[in-house]
Amino acid sequence: MSITPNATFAALGTTVFTVMSALASEHGAVNLGQGFPDTDGPEDVRAVAARALMEHSNQYPPMRGLPALRQAVADHEARFYGLAVDPDRQVLVTSGATEALTASLMAFLSPGDEAILIEPAYDSYLPIIRNTGATPRFLRLDPPHWRLEEDRLAALITDKTRLLVLNTPHNPVGRVFSDEELAMLARLAATHDFLVVSDEVYEHLVFDGRRHRPLITFPGMAERTLKIASAGKTFSLTGWKVGMVTGAPALIDQVAKVHQFLTFTTPPNLQAAVAYGLGKDDSYYAGLVADMQARRDRLAAGLAALGFDVLPTEGTYFLTCDYSRLSGEDDVTFARRLVAEAGVATIPLSPFVEGDWPHRLIRFCFAKQDVVLDEGVARLRRYFGGA
Ligand code: GLN
Repeated sequence: MSITPNATFAALGTTVFTVMSALASEHGAVNLGQGFPDTDGPEDVRAVAARALMEHSNQYPPMRGLPALRQAVADHEARFYGLAVDPDRQVLVTSGATEALTASLMAFLSPGDEAILIEPAYDSYLPIIRNTGATPRFLRLDPPHWRLEEDRLAALITDKTRLLVLNTPHNPVGRVFSDEELAMLARLAATHDFLVVSDEVYEHLVFDGRRHRPLITFPGMAERTLKIASAGKTFSLTGWKVGMVTGAPALIDQVAKVHQFLTFTTPPNLQAAVAYGLGKDDSYYAGLVADMQARRDRLAAGLAALGFDVLPTEGTYFLTCDYSRLSGEDDVTFARRLVAEAGVATIPLSPFVEGDWPHRLIRFCFAKQDVVLDEGVARLRRYFGGA
């Protein structure tokens, strides 16, 4: 007899976020790697969670989510996107977007299917796809514009294509795909009849006056899109792990079948607080954008002055930099040197792609206090020999 692990998971290491955060603490580094804000989300939202913990039931909430949260999600989709969502049949609450993604992929992929991943790709998608027995097909985006090209996408579609994973705003590259790119994707998805699992966790973090337009609002997409959101991102509370999936009733029914055996439910007090939070007024959402945009600009200016080529960031917590003018090393080596020697943790981009990656790009998280961003830049300045 032998204990044989699942081959997909046995082949994995630890996520680059955990690795870099561990190196950051080991070296006492400024952590601009893993994506989390270093201040807590709104006090009123946290107070609702605290009160609910003491005053409401702490037993299993309904499997699909607290009715109040499902209603709040429906109201949110109507308010921001003009969507009519049935809270009873079209919303599922999960334990973070991570669970929402896993449940969605497991619900719709079987051995022999193909799934298209847009690379760079957030790291949780690929192992789950592989573990379903489906074959991943990779659609590479190229820096610095990271455009979705129709001919490249069309070339990957076969009669086995079951779904595509979209992420907009995009982690790690910081793109918000344009209406034209999304319309092109929607056209191909409708023509070739595949599902899109649309990871939109940064929907409220889009900058410079842009608007996030969910893929589900495009023609033909209502019946073939699962829209995934995360309270962690919308309320700067990444430890909460409250995710939300919206989609057509038949799609949500299938995702719920997986969810019931992955986690079944999500802590009810956090759900109650997220229900409250989603109803916050426009100034909250505008303030979040203005605040993060100012941090982006602060860090970008600091890094540019050091010789990093800062790529445009249209949304998310992240900016990417080309460091070719500072080093010829590969990105993992460079990031490891920065954390150990300069005392600044970042995230290399190569873990987000399969195979060769010729670019010299690292990701910085700017969801940090000004003093922390400034300290990171100051350390890099000292390290690279500036004033
Ligand atoms: N999404 C976060 C990031 O991109 C990390 C989440 C995690 O550590 N799993 O940095």
